[in-house]
Amino acid sequence: MRFRRLRILILLGLLAAAASLTFLEQWMVRGWRGPIEVQIIPVNGDGSALAGAMIAALQPADFDEINTFLEREIARYGAPVSPAIHVSLKPALRVPPPAPPRGGALANIAWSLKLRWWVYRQSGQWLPQLGTVKLFLLYHTAREGVALEHSLGLQKGLIGVIHVFADARQQRQNAIVIAHELLHTLGATDKYAAGGRPVYPDGYADPELPAHVPRHAAEIMAGRHVGATGRLVMPASLDACVIGPATAREINLDQAFRNRYGG
Ligand SMILES: [Zn+2]
Repeated sequence: MRFRRLRILILLGLLAAAASLTFLEQWMVRGWRGPIEVQIIPVNGDGSALAGAMIAALQPADFDEINTFLEREIARYGAPVSPAIHVSLKPALRVPPPAPPRGGALANIAWSLKLRWWVYRQSGQWLPQLGTVKLFLLYHTAREGVALEHSLGLQKGLIGVIHVFADARQQRQNAIVIAHELLHTLGATDKYAAGGRPVYPDGYADPELPAHVPRHAAEIMAGRHVGATGRLVMPASLDACVIGPATAREINLDQAFRNRYGG
């Protein structure tokens, strides 16, 4: 009995420590005071030679269009930061991060702590890198008709586990997925419903326009837009994506604007 109590106390202590770190980190990255540090950690997702070759050829500049997108979009909300993100490319890992559980609130809490501990261990640093977003990119060979696993971005620990295609022709689609998960780590929520349909109005570009007006750009947290014939359109690149006002609020851009200009 006593041991059980002790275990519960330790778990509560860990949770409290994790919660205060989350609070501190969110304060650091959501202030928009300077570039957000983003580490890219590639992982060979299927052990293939193709994914290995893709990872070996990666350059930090491969992620430039994510910065261009963020710079352009946050400037629209009056919080210009240039560059918006500073990307560093870390050595590739052989093992993937611990996979999320299939369900259960307790299992989720345990997994989230385990993931944060795993991220800390693999960093090879003594001190946790507070305020740095860690994006694990799991590269997979594209196979016809086979969808990638669901990617995720967590505010807790600023961690993204992102499944991408090991195909240079998919780089622009990969960039959209990476930007989407990066924004999750900063507090943005999904804005699409079942079947991938954007939720009106928050999941639409120009949400002040009626829903039936065709859009030419996608809200980044919806991922798609409704085109001329009412069908869903995948944006070709981040050039055709925007941060809508609801997402801007979630990632604290309006507060950043007030901090800067008062009022
Ligand atoms: Zn999402």
